[in-house]
Amino acid sequence: MNQKPLAIEICETGRYIYSKGLAPGKSGNISARSHDTVAITPSGMSLGCLNPEDVVMVDIGGKILAGRKKPSSELQLHLDVYQKRDDVQGIVHTHSPYATGFALAGKMIERLEGFGERKTPFLKMVKYAPPGTSELAISVGNGLKEEDSVILKDHGLVATGKNLFEAALLAEFVEETAKTQYISRVLMNMEF
Ligand code: 13P
Ligand code: ZN
Repeated sequence: MNQKPLAIEICETGRYIYSKGLAPGKSGNISARSHDTVAITPSGMSLGCLNPEDVVMVDIGGKILAGRKKPSSELQLHLDVYQKRDDVQGIVHTHSPYATGFALAGKMIERLEGFGERKTPFLKMVKYAPPGTSELAISVGNGLKEEDSVILKDHGLVATGKNLFEAALLAEFVEETAKTQYISRVLMNMEF
């Protein structure tokens, strides 16, 4: 079991994600859960410079337990995933550039080794719904029933893990995979 306070975990992982260029500017949001309590990033703040008092604590139904800031506009999305996946304790949502490029172009990212046992050839892409809506929350929640990560059409990605840092590593791996596939597809079409 993870003993680190959830708010500290959020700040440390936020810095990691930001330092890797996965969540530029004020984009993206992350959360971690312990039992029925969820810690989530505040809306409209950079993931790279959060302090524990910026983190918002809610119960699994979305009731605010602590924190002065407004929770992420994607709170419902995070809660929907926790409600559907008992094994998930951490969620990362980013607009990392290569994965989001694939999402905008509607091009599928091939599933390489390292994505676990599920054997479909491409990472799942869920259909577009506006950011922060319950429509997006429901489609991501459903998409993640059988997947650990999904691409959000015209938006970004969501990755999950048995803890928050594992979710961050998966988001990093999805981005790296999209980047290598982009490079290889460009090179394959180049004349040398
Ligand atoms: P928040 O700052 O409200 O978390 O929104 C960022 C985002 O990525 C919305 O999809
Ligand atoms: Zn987003």
